[in-house]
Amino acid sequence: MEYMPNFQLHRPESAAEAVKLHSENTAALYVAGGTDMIVNVRRGIEQPENLIDLSAVTELKAITEDKEGLHIGAGVTLKEVSGNEHIVSNYQAVAEAAAAVAGITHQQYGTLGGNLCLDTRCLFYNQSEWWRQSNDYCLKARGETCHVASGGKRCFAAFSGDVAPSLLVYQAEVDLVGPEGTRRIPLAEMYQNDGLDHLTLKPGELLTVIHLPKALAGCPSRYEKARIRGSIDYPLAGAAVRLEMADGNVKDLAIALTGVNPYPQIVKGTDDYAGDALDEESLDKLRDNVRKQAKPMKTTTVAPWYRRRVIGALARRLTAELAG
Ligand SMILES: Cc1cc2nc3c(=O)[nH]c(=O)nc-3n(C[C@H](O)[C@H](O)[C@H](O)COP(=O)(O)OP(=O)(O)OC[C@H]3O[C@@H](n4cnc5c(N)ncnc54)[C@H](O)[C@@H]3O)c2cc1C
Ligand code: SF4
Repeated sequence: MEYMPNFQLHRPESAAEAVKLHSENTAALYVAGGTDMIVNVRRGIEQPENLIDLSAVTELKAITEDKEGLHIGAGVTLKEVSGNEHIVSNYQAVAEAAAAVAGITHQQYGTLGGNLCLDTRCLFYNQSEWWRQSNDYCLKARGETCHVASGGKRCFAAFSGDVAPSLLVYQAEVDLVGPEGTRRIPLAEMYQNDGLDHLTLKPGELLTVIHLPKALAGCPSRYEKARIRGSIDYPLAGAAVRLEMADGNVKDLAIALTGVNPYPQIVKGTDDYAGDALDEESLDKLRDNVRKQAKPMKTTTVAPWYRRRVIGALARRLTAELAG
């Protein structure tokens, strides 16, 4: 670990003030619970001169419900998400995913916004300064080579946040507040397939609210992940499944993945199962389809082939369970 660098800490009390502070210090970084950011600072991965602490922005901490659906502030902690009765009963996979993040102490401080804006991770990047320096760094920061795909000019670091897939299967939308105002976009559009730059946020944009639609409230869903240490670890592979059945056949199926691509990915082709009774053959087909779309690379100590097998197995098992 490195010493903490000298930085100036700002503590705004509103989202507008936070964004204004960012426009005055454009290289500043937002910090919410700090459970990921502070580790990255101590490893020298982030070297901020200005940190904008969001913990006094009370408007980010509300969970409200109206006729449109549920609205969760980006500053709501993961413990509050997993313990919220409305979320547990109506958006089960979201509560399960929040409860699967790291360990309980991280969930007490870690926020939903920080989880969704988590940087991508790689075995060759999330290391100490001296370790990365002795490997000539890598494309993601200060280096010229990718140690995962040598010769390549792309970064394959994996998005490893647990909660995004569960929100994606419920078609969540997000509010982003920036210097040019507020915009609302589907959560899926907040990500792109690039380990170097996986968020489509504009400079200084702050994630403020996550919206879950009422139309899908109560639709059964599950989230499960594979990890090395059961008590505290990022997903090697994680799958969220939402499944509505009618008269023994699929009415609506959505699957999303984490840990196996640089962005949380919605699985394509799930509409093809509408009207299907989900027998062993179609579940096997679904598993193989998930495996084809997952593209894990050598970004963890666990081999890509294993993570691809696991992600297919998780998606198949959860779908079968939900189908009853
Ligand atoms: C040992 C360990 C194990 C972990 N295991 C897991 C795990 O299993 N699963 C998992 O998902 N995560 C894991 N994490 C990472 C982290 O604890 C969680 O993802 C947590 O939810 C991050 O939230 P935070 O509020 O602490 O974010 P911070 O660390 O404060 O911020 C994370 C990133 O989000 C940005 N950010 C924060 N809020 C906003 C906002 N409102 N708008 C725009 N940008 C924002 C920050 O600038 C930063 O880049 C682990 C961390 C550690 C140290
Ligand atoms: S995938 Fe390559 S460029 Fe990206 S963090 Fe890993 S080693 Fe670096």
